[in-house]
Amino acid sequence: MTRILVVEDESAIAELIAINLRHAGFEITIAATAEDAQREVDRALPAMVLLDWMLPGQSGLSLARRWRADERTRELPVIMLTARSEEADTVTGLEAGADDYLTKPFSPKELLARIRAVLRRRAPQALEDAVRVGGLVLDPATRRVTCGDGGDVFEVRVGPTEFRLLHFFMTHPERVHSRAQLLDRVWGDHVFIEERTVDVHIKRLREALAPAGCDSWVETVRGSGYRLVRPAAGSMAA
Ligand code: CA
Repeated sequence: MTRILVVEDESAIAELIAINLRHAGFEITIAATAEDAQREVDRALPAMVLLDWMLPGQSGLSLARRWRADERTRELPVIMLTARSEEADTVTGLEAGADDYLTKPFSPKELLARIRAVLRRRAPQALEDAVRVGGLVLDPATRRVTCGDGGDVFEVRVGPTEFRLLHFFMTHPERVHSRAQLLDRVWGDHVFIEERTVDVHIKRLREALAPAGCDSWVETVRGSGYRLVRPAAGSMAA
């Protein structure tokens, strides 16, 4: 389930957001201060953060800046929430690294639309859209994976962890991901899970893809990590 961290010191607003987002199928964690939010992010990376600008102590704005400066959180999608509506503030928020900006009060419908738009752009593995890479197709809605073109389409049977791993690879093809990055983005935990765990699930994923002849698409990049490569044209027929 896609987890969103809501950083908001006004508990009534935080609860209202949480109720609406849980109803839409998201898992919600609430933090009331920047310090709590940082602790939460250190523990496990959420798929996205809704970040109130005005917080007691450290502001949401400075927290967003800090996340953008840190390699681990650089790509963490952030939507700033604020009571301010001055254009200069919007610019400041976006310059601090926010992906979008919502002025209170906003409707649940608007919030959901903004969340989906930012996830589609920044973290497509958090959405239920079907993904295709070459002849490999993964559909989160039906939890089906198929591989093949034309007449020969193989159903690929994968476990839940391999499914999430493959989903992440397919939404970020060609890029090399380190074991630590995969733990953060797929498992949501880089602290308590050993990097060796990644290797175990990569092996299982390749075994699942092997009958369809797609196992070589998951490449080991020595000293760096793993990546999913698109096969060269025509190689599917082999
Ligand atoms: Ca506030």
